[in-house]
Amino acid sequence: MPTSSFHCPNGHDQLFSYKGLHPLHFGRYGCVPNSEANIMHQLNELRIAKEQINLMILTHAHIDHFGSAARLKEILNVPVLAHRLDEPYFRTGQPDTTTMKPTKPIWNLLRKNLINKKTLPVSIDIVMKADQVYSLYPWGVDGVVIHTPGHTKGSLSIILENGEAIIMDMMASGILLCGIMLRSRVKHTPFHDDFKALRDSFTKVLSYPGDRYYLGHGGPVNRKKVIEYSERLS
Ligand SMILES: [Zn+2]
Ligand SMILES: [Zn+2]
Repeated sequence: MPTSSFHCPNGHDQLFSYKGLHPLHFGRYGCVPNSEANIMHQLNELRIAKEQINLMILTHAHIDHFGSAARLKEILNVPVLAHRLDEPYFRTGQPDTTTMKPTKPIWNLLRKNLINKKTLPVSIDIVMKADQVYSLYPWGVDGVVIHTPGHTKGSLSIILENGEAIIMDMMASGILLCGIMLRSRVKHTPFHDDFKALRDSFTKVLSYPGDRYYLGHGGPVNRKKVIEYSERLS
């Protein structure tokens, strides 16, 4: 089961594979459009046959996290899961630019660069609604998908029973966009939609036990770092 992820050079410990759940190391440019060959290559390196993949989870509607989703869906022939609030953006291939509110003035430049980027539309087969908790047990993974809005309105996180969680762009760590080096240094991702919603989502994530949190940019970080970042939001 791949989840939409983002990878930057040297972010090797973001690459992990776990009992049927494979947050992907999407190559130098993340899951931007035209990354599918790179992603398939990485799956191959992980010795994951495409037949082993049965579900794709799109964590949110930013182009670095679903740019290649349509092509991947074709190649893998799997259903795709996403939240209803981000679904229109996946359906049109137009990323949710309304949520791209820069967390620092410098990210205005990045926003300008990304604002007109589009990708192929991808249809969503399993649509999570409101605060639904979606069990991954039927898919062979001990964990759940939960709604964690704030970064975008329909952001999803994956909470695993082994104490790991994928919280993607709820926070970032390290330096530069990719979070290379000093990865214990927590920080904002370039954009957040709604800080109050994000704070509530951290409360929700932290209500589950856990001590290893995978991020889209930087990470992974431990629980202490997640608390440190969430407290910064208050
Ligand atoms: Zn994002
Ligand atoms: Zn991102």
